[in-house]
Amino acid sequence: MEQAVKKIQMVDLKTQYNRLKPEIDEAIKAVLDHAIFINGPEVKSFASDLSQYLGAKHVIPCANGTDALQIAMMALDLRPGDEVITADFTYVATAEVIGLLQLTPVLVDVYPGTFDIDVDAIEKAITPRTKAIVPVHLFGQCADMERIMTIAKKHNLHVIEDVAQAIGADYKFKDGRSGKAGTIGTIGCTSFFPSKNLGCYGDGGAIFTNDENLARRIRMIANHGQSVQYVHDEIGCNSRLDSIQAAVLGVKLKYLDAFAKARNRAADLYDKAFSGNKFLRIPERVSYSNHVFHQYTLVLNRIDREQLKIFLEAKGIPAMIYYPIPLHSQKAFSSDRYKPGDFPVTESLCASVISLPMHPELEGSTVALISSAVLEGVEKFKLK
Ligand SMILES: *Cc1c(COP(=O)(O)O)cnc(C)c1O
Repeated sequence: MEQAVKKIQMVDLKTQYNRLKPEIDEAIKAVLDHAIFINGPEVKSFASDLSQYLGAKHVIPCANGTDALQIAMMALDLRPGDEVITADFTYVATAEVIGLLQLTPVLVDVYPGTFDIDVDAIEKAITPRTKAIVPVHLFGQCADMERIMTIAKKHNLHVIEDVAQAIGADYKFKDGRSGKAGTIGTIGCTSFFPSKNLGCYGDGGAIFTNDENLARRIRMIANHGQSVQYVHDEIGCNSRLDSIQAAVLGVKLKYLDAFAKARNRAADLYDKAFSGNKFLRIPERVSYSNHVFHQYTLVLNRIDREQLKIFLEAKGIPAMIYYPIPLHSQKAFSSDRYKPGDFPVTESLCASVISLPMHPELEGSTVALISSAVLEGVEKFKLK
């Protein structure tokens, strides 16, 4: 009976918890019992498990994904006025920390099919002041890292991967090698916000690198710039993953690949339902990356998006707009650098994307229900 009335959600953390309850409860209880709430054994063992899973030499846990990006940029000794290139179409945090450190965010457009940063646009935006590139693996599929790394090497730039939406995704190089998202650039940064593919039950984040010296520096910055207890070598910050969150993540990491498979099953069903419909564009899949479907995002072609969203909501189907406003149009990023029309792809995506429910607990029958409602709405709300 309960199944029949179960509310459709963008992300269903409650069902996931109920499935993992015995393991999660036990892991949390262990922390309550030993009472080492900060830097407990769970934090070390999760960092080591994640490092093994990713194939990254060093994993430094921190308080959230935004801090991860900020600490990464601090560790690279970027200075006020240095330019950092990133995508105009992303969550605000990516560009926010660039501005917060008084670096200059240089926004560039994205590809219409994958939503990831346009590599030619990166190269065009490079100046003598450019110090770093921050590709975002948006919605769960890697940006074109091999080409980005080639450009970065040529111009001697750091690459900070924003992996908040793509943890576990594999990037495939042309020679057949592959590497996990976040382990290809200089530093990878991720978030464990509850709704992310690997989410905890509060806030959390992590930074990955293969560079020993950078890892030492990152650890120090995340811990008040402290090299030895009560000895502070530089101004840092206080950014920690607590033991309870690490305990939850330690359990969920074991299921990350199975979760990605379940997300792909749902995405394949959505694709099948929508492909060939000329009013809808399904997410493009690329040869150089698999997809872990943090979001399943459609691009609408001449459909009244607001009406469609209201129509779906009336049927009990949530839908979200990630993201409605390009960063360059946000007041916080207003700059003489940009004018309307500079990033036509991002501007058009912001006006036409819609993300559907996507999570590992999504049943095939629910995907079918959502798909037929979307198709019905599309027929109803075509723009003249
Ligand atoms: C979620 C997210 C972040 C920030 O993570 P928090 O843990 O919320 O600080 C950064 N970048 C992207 C692309 C994200 O999706």
